[in-house]
Amino acid sequence: MINPKDFIQAFRDLYLNSPQCGSWTRASENCDYGDIMTVSKDCYLCFNSGNCRNAYYCEDSRALTDSTDCAFCEGCELCYECVDCDGLNDCNYCQDCANSNGCHFSYDLRRCKDCFGCVGLRNKKHCIFNEQYSKKDYEKYVADLDLEDEKTLALIDKKVEELKKKTPRMYAHQLDTTKCVGDYVYHSKNCYMCFDTRHSEDSAYITQANLDMGTKDCMDCGPIPTGMDRCYDVAYSHYLFNCNHVYWCGNLKESEWCICCFESDHLFGCNYMKNKHKGFYILNEKVSEADYKRLTAEINEEIKARGIYSLYDLAHKDLKDGRVDVSDDVRDRECKICSADFKIVPDEVKFLRARGQLLPVYCPACRAKQRFDMRNKREMHKRICDKCKKTLISTYPADSKYVVYCLDCFWKHFD
Ligand SMILES: [Zn+2]
Ligand SMILES: [Zn+2]
Repeated sequence: MINPKDFIQAFRDLYLNSPQCGSWTRASENCDYGDIMTVSKDCYLCFNSGNCRNAYYCEDSRALTDSTDCAFCEGCELCYECVDCDGLNDCNYCQDCANSNGCHFSYDLRRCKDCFGCVGLRNKKHCIFNEQYSKKDYEKYVADLDLEDEKTLALIDKKVEELKKKTPRMYAHQLDTTKCVGDYVYHSKNCYMCFDTRHSEDSAYITQANLDMGTKDCMDCGPIPTGMDRCYDVAYSHYLFNCNHVYWCGNLKESEWCICCFESDHLFGCNYMKNKHKGFYILNEKVSEADYKRLTAEINEEIKARGIYSLYDLAHKDLKDGRVDVSDDVRDRECKICSADFKIVPDEVKFLRARGQLLPVYCPACRAKQRFDMRNKREMHKRICDKCKKTLISTYPADSKYVVYCLDCFWKHFD
């Protein structure tokens, strides 16, 4: 039986010795140079994207075809250097544009065709820097531009910046929202400080809940929290109910401090487990329900006393300081990582206290960064699978301290 005082080290040993997936793809073909790619084909150095075909250097996007260097885009084709765009065809250097064709160097266009250097236009054709041209003049102007010339590019930038300054814009990117504070929030209600979030309700500090199932009654979740209900401190996971401090898990209930666990209930400090519905597990060992309740309460007290606030802390924080004084003061705080001042709002206090969690000592941005940093950097290395020895392109370098498997070996290991 685990001594609560030994839990932190035992968790770290378990994490270090569990196999990691070298690069993760699902239902994808020829997307090996990249990570977290789903239902995609022929992509190169793309990350966290789905339903893409022939995309290069794209991140956090859905349904891109024949596109390069795009981020936070959806349903775009033949696009280059676009950010936060939706339904574009043959567009370059566009931001916040939707349902448009053949537009370049533009910002906030809707249903436009063949526009250049424009800002805030709707249903327009053949405009240059927001002025109307004939089709012939437009085509001549664009054909004569030398986009290799840095002076021309600087001039375009200057004119677009001027237009951006004088064109009114929405206070936030929100659509179909009620009482939401945040940006890029859609179809959501009562959300506080949420970003890139859809279909969420009564939640705070959620990031990149981009899919059809967002979060409900959650705090500090994301990137990629899909279908979460009553969760706290979660990243890269889907379909969780009442879980705290979880990373890379799916279909879990009532679990805490877990990494890479699936289809289970009542896991605590577990790593790499699947299909454990009938039982209670601590550090991958089965225990009785009574022991589970007693030990998890004791371990959580120990974790708090050591100044561990997040799963990232549990896995990586340098604990040489020993025991720390835990403040329960609800006044504004200074972040212990970046020193920025931040607020703790009343709903947050209520949420955390109800779950027996400490009030945060890190600001929301540092908390989000910690969850993002649970993953590897978005860079690829050549290495071998530690099981079958085949060559892999992985986010884990060859000298990584972790045990790294190819996708096949990784899933086989679970069975
Ligand atoms: Zn901070
Ligand atoms: Zn392998």
